[in-house]
Amino acid sequence: MLSIEQTIQQIVDELSQRIENTQIQTELIKIDAALRRVCADDVVSPMAVPPFDNSAMDGYAINVKNTNLDQLDNLPISQRIPAGVAPQPLQTNTAARIFTGGVMPDGADAVVIQEHCQLDEHGTCVSLLKPVYIGENIRRQGQDIQANDVVVAKGTQLSAVHIGLLASMGCIEVRVYKKIKVAIFSTGDELVQPGQQLQPGQIYNSNRSMLFALCRQLDVEIVDLGVVADQLNETMTALNQAAQQADLIISSGGVSVGEEDHVKDAVEQLGHLNLWKINMKPGKPVAFGAVNDIPFLGLPGNPVSSFVTFQLIAQPAIQTLQGQPYQVPVTYPVVAGFTKALVTRQEYLRVKLQTHNGLPTAQLFGNQSSGVLSSLCWADGFVIHQPETAIQEGQSVQFMPMMG
Ligand code: AMP
Ligand code: MG
Repeated sequence: MLSIEQTIQQIVDELSQRIENTQIQTELIKIDAALRRVCADDVVSPMAVPPFDNSAMDGYAINVKNTNLDQLDNLPISQRIPAGVAPQPLQTNTAARIFTGGVMPDGADAVVIQEHCQLDEHGTCVSLLKPVYIGENIRRQGQDIQANDVVVAKGTQLSAVHIGLLASMGCIEVRVYKKIKVAIFSTGDELVQPGQQLQPGQIYNSNRSMLFALCRQLDVEIVDLGVVADQLNETMTALNQAAQQADLIISSGGVSVGEEDHVKDAVEQLGHLNLWKINMKPGKPVAFGAVNDIPFLGLPGNPVSSFVTFQLIAQPAIQTLQGQPYQVPVTYPVVAGFTKALVTRQEYLRVKLQTHNGLPTAQLFGNQSSGVLSSLCWADGFVIHQPETAIQEGQSVQFMPMMG
């Protein structure tokens, strides 16, 4: 049996090779439309940000170095510099009234905040009440970005902050990878779409809507192939359709080797498949292969298993096809608020974090069955229960937050 980490690495390696060979297409789009898109170039700043030295506070700009120390009392105010205005050079032995963001006048080397100043009764001279240091309250040109800095690296998924940073250097458009298309279908004769009447033995299809929502969070285009009956021919037809329209095919259910499970046979007839009994719970089995050279990922049907394998396997697969470099998920040490006997598979336990004695402590959801989807609503994430170990209350365990 493969470990989950080995499985993910194999999938990511195979998919990134495909990308190198086929080159994902790119497009130039406005930065305001670029949220969550993946940058296809290193973006280099043509300018320094901020473009000029400016004041960090409302106050008075002075020249500490050259001002006559006797005259730090009653300095004449020689000009007024609000933000957005080009100032005159600072006259010797004077102060300039300046506001946050105002350009530092040539010759000034400090800003004294207004709370440390006193105006005379006419409002024309200012006295400084505290010692002043050179450089005080000045935001230097380029303190955020230097000209020619790589501001956003190729492969970065753009957040609101990246977009703000691109705007700060005057950028209008950014080159991104085209959105990938993910075809999704659910298998199972028992499945009925919400809105229809349930007949005896039927259940509502929860994976379809959940997988759509998970894919939307990753900013892919969805190709909806509906529900496929537990029959070989229908499964092959769905896979063929999917391969014609999508960059990745994801199915749920039907990946075991029971008589009612046809995904394995269908994929093998149309392409190739590795059926993996991954050493994890929930989640075994997961299938990975290709249909007409389009990568295929078969997730288990149990809704919790579908979610967990989506987060652990489908998410990195999608991100790799989007052009993002793979990053091993970050986990954090937390205190186990429960005791659990030795396990043989790597388990992803649904837990909620609470603070006890100042430390994050994981509480276990009572029913860890892979059919209990409400456990995922309750949980903040997963404690990773390593195979061949037991967990004692109070010990340190690794916590992985839930995607969302
Ligand atoms: P399977 O992987 O097809 O053997 O399904 C395992 C379990 O998950 C069965 O109890 C199915 O009824 C259930 N299941 C499969 N697909 C779905 C789905 N799309 N929505 C809700 N439950 C499902
Ligand atoms: Mg089934």
